[in-house]
Amino acid sequence: MDAAEFRRRGKEMVDYVADYLENIEKRPVYPDLEPGYLRSLIPNEAPLEPESYEDIIKDVERVIMPGVTHWHSPYFFAYFPAASSYPAMVADMLCGAIGCIGFSWAASPACTELETVMLDWLGKMLQLPECFIAGTHGRGGGVIQGTASEATLMSLLAARCKAVRRVQAINAKKSESEILSKLVAYTSDQAHSSVERAALIGAVMMRKVPTDNHYAVRKEMLKKMVEEDKAAGLIPFYFCATLGTTPSCAFDHLTELGPLCNEENMWMHIDAAYAGSAFVCPEFRPLLNGVEFADSFNFNPHKWLLVNFDSAIVKQHWQIPLGRRFRSLKMWFVFRMYGLKGLQAHIRKQVALAKEFESLVRADKRFEICAEVVLGLVCFRLKGSNELNQELLKRITKSREIHLVPCQLSGRFVLRFAICARSTESHHIQQAWQHITQLTFELLQEFQK
Ligand code: PLP
Repeated sequence: MDAAEFRRRGKEMVDYVADYLENIEKRPVYPDLEPGYLRSLIPNEAPLEPESYEDIIKDVERVIMPGVTHWHSPYFFAYFPAASSYPAMVADMLCGAIGCIGFSWAASPACTELETVMLDWLGKMLQLPECFIAGTHGRGGGVIQGTASEATLMSLLAARCKAVRRVQAINAKKSESEILSKLVAYTSDQAHSSVERAALIGAVMMRKVPTDNHYAVRKEMLKKMVEEDKAAGLIPFYFCATLGTTPSCAFDHLTELGPLCNEENMWMHIDAAYAGSAFVCPEFRPLLNGVEFADSFNFNPHKWLLVNFDSAIVKQHWQIPLGRRFRSLKMWFVFRMYGLKGLQAHIRKQVALAKEFESLVRADKRFEICAEVVLGLVCFRLKGSNELNQELLKRITKSREIHLVPCQLSGRFVLRFAICARSTESHHIQQAWQHITQLTFELLQEFQK
């Protein structure tokens, strides 16, 4: 492909993408395939001779699209959102064109500097304390990581290093391995699996703190565990708080937990992967109160702030890879083209849609809401057995008209309805609910036979 063909094909691709997104709701949101479907559709080996672009593009519809779960369909309500917007996609093209590997300032000054400034913009949008802002002195700030999982791992490794140094400063004879074997980290029993994985990779113990009736960690619960562990000769060193847990979007109480972590010399990391974007709205910002006690903070603009994957910001500087993409371009384009007001409007609209769905569920006595609806996630279930709810979800998935995933809350099988796509409107919510109630009607009739 030379520059002339690139111009032509690139323009065609932009049209293909715009058509795909404009018509996405006509496609079944979830694929109808068995695992392993793809191998038989393409050759076992890469071609020896070059193939034509036309052939590849034909195969996109033949091979790829049938196997795509359409995350940007307005009928996609699974997991948490994967953010997407046109300015971010256009910026991603530019990032690909510049194609730098920004591992140092000299390797690409604009890449390094724009990232620093974008993290300051974000820090200010979220009203983070001054110590999280790089400013012109560069003392605070942070970096863009690929995912929240990397951010959590980095914070745990940094905390581990700090704890070892602290213990050795008091007792120089203690070996690193001896200290490591005594370090203990804590997180909520509702935390994302990536937190537990960080402890596995970091080779430290991790304790799950039981949560209250709202699935949140409270100070007393953590304090009790820390005291027991200290009495047993262990060294508590790290707590990962969650703002917006994956199962039910619960919020740990930072204003209680932060001072405890500070008193106990425990690093407090905040995983706000999904919910963090909502803090650009002043009405949701109180959920972040207590961030001033944290050592590191992460959220994913690629979940809910209209910046396509991958961009997880972390206020803290370590990272695993040396090479870095020019990810901040996506943020720069998105923040400028939406403005803070546009970003706030996006969050507010999606929260309102979640509330609309919640009202529909509450108005139907066959169903119950299983956790407080704070942002864009509604946890609900049919009153009845886990088996009944499992069957309902099975039928929803099989219908391929809407897509949802479950979670477990207090041992109960619960359906999660997350507002995800930028294109989801009220009529999609109404239609989704109609679909759920139709399937419920059929299901209950069969169960009652
Ligand atoms: N933390 C929380 C609270 C999440 O909800 C998720 C994913 O949904 C993650 C971490 C993992 O995110 P990532 O894929 O960016 O590692």
